Amino acid sequence: MALINCPLCKNAISDDSRYCPHCRYVLRSETPLESAYDSLVPLLKFGAFWALWGGVLVLAIKSNDWILWSFLAVLTAVAIPDLVKDLRGLIQKK
Ligand SMILES: [Zn+2]
Repeated sequence: MALINCPLCKNAISDDSRYCPHCRYVLRSETPLESAYDSLVPLLKFGAFWALWGGVLVLAIKSNDWILWSFLAVLTAVAIPDLVKDLRGLIQKK
């Protein structure tokens, strides 16, 4: 760790910080690991959601229980806007 001067406000800052604490100037963007993690999380959520959704669907068909059908409908209505947002974020990133 060394001290450098912020290119924007010229204050002394640590060279391993990502932002200048004085003016919020971005010194370094995300590391590759962080950006991989950011794209992985929506994918995992997407996969987990459809696995759950499929599981409930199979149960609902098997038992023909209206509670399961309602649960499936609510799950779909609640999760889809969120999933669409995540996917849109992923697509825009690339
Ligand atoms: Zn600064």
